[in-house]
Amino acid sequence: MARPRNNSKIQIPPRVKGFNPQGYYAKPSKAINLNIEEFEVIRLLDYENLSQMEASKIMEISRPSLTRIYDRARKKIAQALIEAHPIRIGGGKIVYDEHWYQCNKCKSHFSNPDGNEVMTCALCLSTDILKVEEEK
Ligand SMILES: [Zn+2]
Repeated sequence: MARPRNNSKIQIPPRVKGFNPQGYYAKPSKAINLNIEEFEVIRLLDYENLSQMEASKIMEISRPSLTRIYDRARKKIAQALIEAHPIRIGGGKIVYDEHWYQCNKCKSHFSNPDGNEVMTCALCLSTDILKVEEEK
């Protein structure tokens, strides 16, 4: 029997909660859910160009687990692109690397390694700050 897998460690929360297709063949009713660990694997491998070994160390999961997540993520994205489905981003067995906050005014994300509550956005000086919660 397979050993239960650890939560994937995530460095940066996704900036948006999803994408919608445009045009006549768009199917807004049937969204494909990309969980945050699948999003993070795509970010590390295809955006940051890390190797699967490097990415698995950062996410603190085994390389075979990472490969499975990557395969799943690519199939979901391909299906959404080809069949014109919206993509929703959220969920997954994750834990964030640092304490993350989002400014509700300018929508920027920032981390606070000290773990102190952040009260003011460094970019727009708004005090409308939301702590980014981990989704289980
Ligand atoms: Zn701001």
